[in-house]
Amino acid sequence: MALRCYLTQRRKPNCVVDKPITWDISNLSYTTVGLVPTMGALHRGHLSLIHRACEENHTVIVSIFVNPLQFGPDEDYYNYPRILEQDYQFCRQAGVDAVFVPTSKEMGIGLKNSAESSVIQVIPPHIMTSVLCGRSRPSHFQGVATIVIKLFNLVQPERVYFGQKDGQQLAIIRKLVADLNFPMEVIACPTVREISGLALSSRNNYLTGDQIQQANGLYRALIKAKEGFGSGLRRSKTLIALVRKELAQISSLSVEYIELVEPNTLMPIDIVEDEGMLAIAAHIGNTRLIDNIILRNRQPIIAIDGPAGAGKSTVAHQVAAKLKLVYLDTGAMYRAITWLVLQHGIKVDDECAIAELVSHYCIELTPSEDPLYSLTIMINGNNLNEEIRSVEVTSNVSAVASHKSVRQALVKQQQTWGQKGGLVAEGRDIGTHVFPDAEVKIFLNASIEERARRRQQDFQRQGEPEVSLEQLEKQIAERDWKDSNREVSPLQKANNAIEINTDGLTVSQVTAIIIQKYQHLISEL
Ligand code: AMP
Repeated sequence: MALRCYLTQRRKPNCVVDKPITWDISNLSYTTVGLVPTMGALHRGHLSLIHRACEENHTVIVSIFVNPLQFGPDEDYYNYPRILEQDYQFCRQAGVDAVFVPTSKEMGIGLKNSAESSVIQVIPPHIMTSVLCGRSRPSHFQGVATIVIKLFNLVQPERVYFGQKDGQQLAIIRKLVADLNFPMEVIACPTVREISGLALSSRNNYLTGDQIQQANGLYRALIKAKEGFGSGLRRSKTLIALVRKELAQISSLSVEYIELVEPNTLMPIDIVEDEGMLAIAAHIGNTRLIDNIILRNRQPIIAIDGPAGAGKSTVAHQVAAKLKLVYLDTGAMYRAITWLVLQHGIKVDDECAIAELVSHYCIELTPSEDPLYSLTIMINGNNLNEEIRSVEVTSNVSAVASHKSVRQALVKQQQTWGQKGGLVAEGRDIGTHVFPDAEVKIFLNASIEERARRRQQDFQRQGEPEVSLEQLEKQIAERDWKDSNREVSPLQKANNAIEINTDGLTVSQVTAIIIQKYQHLISEL
């Protein structure tokens, strides 16, 4: 299979944007391919999809295609922003391998109602296209589904990345992939917003400064409903009324719809039992904007990230104990896989054998009676709490955890746990990647000097030989650099994380600060 692509520097040094080349992607069959379908005019929203794809795949392809089939006759197909050179540089810097920019002809379609448009189209279930945006854009999702399936067939990715920002599109694509047995995983990425809350969109380019101020009201209105939901309101009518009232204050905004639906089936719901998607479409001037939030009836999650030695695990443990939440010890999960690898006599650098192993085993986590362990780690019915603390496991866990397959399997399991909520988890990208919807995100930090001092004290307590502060500082700085630049799960601070510098603070003081922030944020939700 050959694609006419712009290969980036990563694939082909010195490649320039004006020269697409034919790239034989069948050579990629031994690697995993992630596809990010877009219409270009790329922004940080798209970037979040690209980053996720880069983290989870060997090869990442971004497609840019302004799809005529999904625009109505009076819509902005001709004016849609097209900035290929800029998008190409954007992808190059983001670590994308190839940018696939097919023409309509290459995609085998023409403009609507033209001779070439007599292409066979994919028609998603009417029940999913007759609500929300489907009411005013009757053939939009048919156009999306048709083009997306063509892209899937051309690129044959293992994973495809879509934004929650287009919640209806996401639900329809999930359904297509499931019903038509496409052998790929649909990864949903959270909506990226401006600090004001405005969801990033290529169409924000159409807005004037004044209009942007008005558009900020969309998210404010959604947050009103979220607050209402947090205080126990469950009836759709009541929640929608809160949004309508807030939007009514924006004189130049005309509401197209405010609806509350089940996020996967898109069926309208009267009362939110487990979760609901509250979605808005509105017009400001000639620009049509959409946004949504998921209302979830679950216990909160506290995500704690930060560099090594900032005291995350001790603090997370204490926060969980004080708030009576579950401490999801992600480190213990990596240790359990490491134990399994060693038990099977597999070499810790044997990526294939380890991937095979993790695909067969499932770590069971059960709430523990033992106050030392918040969760009991079991594999095949064996309690592993002691075994995973052995010296052998400790010295191999970092090598095993560095395999993508291990991380993917464990993140999936952590997210399954997260569906119930009510937990505290710590790591390097818990707030950005594992639980991007966490209610409370903390980034624990400490100066290198402070962390070196703490480590030296730990060594002294454990009767280890003395290491100089200078040496420890150097090691910590190197570790920080590695953690921030590693390919798999690099250290990242979420945009909306609260940073706490723990210099000079005791564990109890840090715990108290987090609990205070938690209680404040929860009272606001
Ligand atoms: P588009 O180029 O608008 O077709 O969008 C391409 C992909 O990027 C879709 O899956 C969108 O849902 C996703 N996307 C667009 N804006 C955002 C955003 N603000 N946050 C997250 N994903 C987004």
